[in-house]
Amino acid sequence: MFKIKLHWQILISLILAIPAGYFFKEDIKYITWVGTIFLKLLKLIIVPLILSSIIHGIISIGTNDNLGRLGVKTISYYLTTSILAIFTGLFFVNMIAPGEGMNMTVPQSYTQTDVTDASITDTLMNIVPSNIFSAIAENKMLSVIFISILFGIFINKTNRKTKKVFTTFFEAFNELMMKITMFIMKLTPYGVFSIVAGVVAETSSISAMAEGLLWYSGTVIAALAFHFCLTLPAMVWIIGKVNPIKHLKAMSTPLITAFSTSSSSATLPITINSAENKAGISNKISGFTLPLGATVNMDGTALYELVAAMFIAQALGYDISFTDQLIAVGTALLASIGAAGIPMAGIVMLTIILSSIGLPLEGIGIIFIVDRILDMFRTATNVWSDSCGAAIIAKSEGEKLKV
Ligand code: ASP
Repeated sequence: MFKIKLHWQILISLILAIPAGYFFKEDIKYITWVGTIFLKLLKLIIVPLILSSIIHGIISIGTNDNLGRLGVKTISYYLTTSILAIFTGLFFVNMIAPGEGMNMTVPQSYTQTDVTDASITDTLMNIVPSNIFSAIAENKMLSVIFISILFGIFINKTNRKTKKVFTTFFEAFNELMMKITMFIMKLTPYGVFSIVAGVVAETSSISAMAEGLLWYSGTVIAALAFHFCLTLPAMVWIIGKVNPIKHLKAMSTPLITAFSTSSSSATLPITINSAENKAGISNKISGFTLPLGATVNMDGTALYELVAAMFIAQALGYDISFTDQLIAVGTALLASIGAAGIPMAGIVMLTIILSSIGLPLEGIGIIFIVDRILDMFRTATNVWSDSCGAAIIAKSEGEKLKV
């Protein structure tokens, strides 16, 4: 029987959702439950998936020397691409200067209570949980990663018999998670339709958006496109010796899902699935790098943070010195590492950058209206960077990929 491939089904529902959301604004509320259930299903397997895939990944990596080497490669890749992304954003926002001449004042309607002032030290300190179960129950991803790495390292140190028990257990657990993921993936077209139609219905007043905001959105999207279409593919091609177009095709399902859900964490099960089954990256590499990447490697978010901060400065008529721009670059990197892989996490972290360079936090009110849309683009970039990293690292470890 004629069967449309899953990524095409998802793309079609994404496209159909736009007119549906626009023309049936009032009726969308009857189908939002589909998207909500879909997201809940994805979220429900994130924590067990991170635990099982990282622990299983570390057990397969074997010795702690190998783990150290992979860890260094992974972190170096994450830092390099995030820094490249931030400088791309810096270049675009200075060239286009979307906020110049807007002469905005701090929005009155916007109160500071809408944002939480997260501090970097708190974020770092909270990585080590004092209670494993509360970290898991509260979905604290960095802590869950910490626990998984700890377990993985020490399972490797147990005697042969114990290690075998754990290996068999986590292998089985991992397989179970993948089976559930496959089932949820089949629901993606329906979930995507409902979510995207909802977003369109909510933001269809966007045509009334001020010109400055259009320029701002254009700047973020252009800079993200540069990083997505040029920088990352160049790295995949030159360093990984992998055909970026084939890799992009292999990763199309997670990318469209990331775009629609605006959550790299929720997309993680699908990212791992495609990385293994379509791109041919081993479970050892994808299980270790992708959960880590979904939480700490956010190129799109880093780029957006920087552009947003500079735009707010331009719009409010603040002069940002070269030193302040460098401070903004550093804090954008930290903020992207600390941001959770959930919708609109980036805008919350923006407070850190604004305070680091002395801009009023209420400035966020200016860009709030377009944030949900920009979130879609930056989340897709985040997931794309994770998957490129997994491919490059797999190749550097001598793996033969399908792409
Ligand atoms: N939504 C993004 C993600 O999940 C984070 C952000 O808001 O920038 O990757």
